[in-house]
Amino acid sequence: MCGGFAVPSATAASDPDLAAVAAHYRGQTPTRWGTSLPGIAATFAASGRQIALTFDACVRRCDEALLATLERNSVPALLFLSSVWIDANPGRAEQLAANPLFEIGNHGTRHVPLSVTGRSAYGIGGSRSADEVVTEVWTNHTRIAALTGKPPTWFRPGTAYYDDVAVAIVAELGERPLGFTVDADDGAKASAARVRSAITGAAPGSVVLAHMNHPESGTAAGVSDAITAMLATGWQFVSLSSQFVQ
Ligand SMILES: [Zn+2]
Repeated sequence: MCGGFAVPSATAASDPDLAAVAAHYRGQTPTRWGTSLPGIAATFAASGRQIALTFDACVRRCDEALLATLERNSVPALLFLSSVWIDANPGRAEQLAANPLFEIGNHGTRHVPLSVTGRSAYGIGGSRSADEVVTEVWTNHTRIAALTGKPPTWFRPGTAYYDDVAVAIVAELGERPLGFTVDADDGAKASAARVRSAITGAAPGSVVLAHMNHPESGTAAGVSDAITAMLATGWQFVSLSSQFVQ
C-alpha cells in the first residue's frame, strides 16, 4: 500500500477515539518483542479433544484446495485476511465473509510486524510508531467490518510478531491479539507430512496456525490428511469465537 500513515478517522459512534489511542501510546518504549507475549491469546479451554484452526491470508494467492477441504468436512476456521490479500481477492473475500463456517480475523493493513519502533521480523519492516500501529490495525478493521457486516474480534499481525506496546494498542482498539500454540506449516514452507504431524500432534486447546495463500505448498494436503485422521479418532475442530480463550 502506498501513501502516508495518517491515523484514519473513526466512522461510528462506538469506535475508539483513534487519535487519543495513538497519543496515549506515543513515546512509550517497548521492552518485549515476539509472538508469545502477555496479552496475546494462544490457547483455549477445550472440552475434550478439541483444537481450533486458523489460517493467515497474507498476500496475493488463495489456496482453493485448502478451503474446499474445510468446507467438505464442515471444519470451521478463523481466517486472518490482510488488506493486501483482500485487494488481490475481493470477490473471494466477500464469499468467505458470507460463509458461516468461517470467521474473519484482522491480519493487518500492510501485513507488517506490529511494532512502535520499526522492528523487523523475517526481513519485513514493522510499523514505526504508535500512530502507524493504529493505522495498521484500524484501516483493515474498517475494511473487514464493511465486508462482513460486523467488526473483527481477532487480530494477528503479519509475521505474528508484536512488541508489548503494540499488544496494548490492539486491545485498546477493541480487538483481541491472537498468537498460536502450534505453527503447523512454517510459513507455508513445510511438507504435507510435516503439516499433518504438527496438527495431529497438537494438544487439546491448541490454536493451530497455517497459511491459506500458498496453494503451491504442502499445507492443503497436510491439513486434509490431519482432518481425516483426527475426525476418525474423535477430535473436534471448533470455532475459536465460541471458546473461552486463555
Ligand atoms: Zn501473514
